[in-house]
Amino acid sequence: MIILVLNFGSSSAKSQLIETSPELIASNSDRLLAKVTIDRMGTPYSVVNVEAPGKLPAHKKVKISKPIYKAEEAVQAILDAYMQYLGDELSSPESITGIGHRIVHGGERFTASTLMTPEVVDDIEDNIDLAPLHNPHNLRGYYAAKAKLPHAQHTAVFDTSFHSSMPKHAYIYGLPYLYYERYRIRRYGFHGTSHRYISYRYAQLHGKRRDDYKLITCHLGNGCSICAIDHGDSIDTSMGFTPVEGLLMGTRCGDVDPMAVMHVIWHEEFDAQALETFLNRMSGLYGVSGISSDMRILLEEESKGNDRAKLAIDMFCYRVRKYIGAYIAAMNGCDGILFGGGIGENSAPVRERILTGLTGLGVDLDPARNAGKVGIEACLTTDQSRIPSWVIPTNEELLIARDTLRCILGLPLP
Ligand code: ADP
Repeated sequence: MIILVLNFGSSSAKSQLIETSPELIASNSDRLLAKVTIDRMGTPYSVVNVEAPGKLPAHKKVKISKPIYKAEEAVQAILDAYMQYLGDELSSPESITGIGHRIVHGGERFTASTLMTPEVVDDIEDNIDLAPLHNPHNLRGYYAAKAKLPHAQHTAVFDTSFHSSMPKHAYIYGLPYLYYERYRIRRYGFHGTSHRYISYRYAQLHGKRRDDYKLITCHLGNGCSICAIDHGDSIDTSMGFTPVEGLLMGTRCGDVDPMAVMHVIWHEEFDAQALETFLNRMSGLYGVSGISSDMRILLEEESKGNDRAKLAIDMFCYRVRKYIGAYIAAMNGCDGILFGGGIGENSAPVRERILTGLTGLGVDLDPARNAGKVGIEACLTTDQSRIPSWVIPTNEELLIARDTLRCILGLPLP
């Protein structure tokens, strides 16, 4: 079955075309046919990027510049690019059987991926209040794709649903309970598709099931979150009511005393928009270093003696380590610490700085194994390490494609 995975944001649309089936899932050989992303959507300078393994040389991207303002134009540009570069493999859009939509917020209603019926779409609309920065864009993508590909089955795969297994003591904030009842203020957690994929894949690599382990998954990218997965269930995660809480991220602050934020509001007279920008876009690695949100640049600057770059990286690693310790306590043990996301998958120095501080908890890093492991599945610890640590490159799109297939075929969602 050919599945189109769609991830619509405010100014970008990411997509992948994936061939999958129950047999391909079982042998882990689902096939990525091509990737098409659109950047700078809504401007005259939009760019369509195409990557088609097997059709174009590896890592070669074709860039097509054309203005794309509306979601319908974006979906059309995505379909045109697939048809142009895949040739016979996609002769018409009718060959696409399913479309998996990444939907950021599923609220309390959605505990698993689901086919997008009119009631489901209404409920996602109702959740816009919980994720005003994300859900409206995800839905724009859905409406446009539904109009262009009415024959296909559409599914919603939520960032939040994997965390719906968290116990109440982990997800209720220490605010008056009334505000949970009135506004559903609570921890929801995000990156669920990534944590789910990483833990699933780790178990699969070892010939076991996710339910056999207590795992800590660290998704370290531009956005960062960490998750405690106790025998298959997310029991706690660092992102909260929004993706701002928890770890230090590229431009988001992570944990901070809310009264410190109040203090800034009083002094700077921030309105809601300015506050949103302050916490989401001006903070984190970027805000602390004053240089960049990109870990590669910060590592480079640190090596040249830049103290603020060093401080930002030290804070980043320290906070990940603190959360790992907390989640070992939350689960009363841990059978594996797993890294994914752009930083987790590619940066041996950052992984080393996180893991070397955990010898007391039974993590024995093997520096030679860690070095040079870039974007591949690999063990990072010695054979004697009480808690092993691995890199497992995440693949959210693959999981979205697989969930879409399972929803269409009525198969259980693992
Ligand atoms: P997103 O959360 O937007 O999907 P990614 O998962 O692609 O982001 O992660 C982006 C981050 O990964 C950036 O901070 C980038 O600096 C970092 N990164 C990518 N490659 C490396 C590398 N080789 N060394 C250190 N950081 C890296």
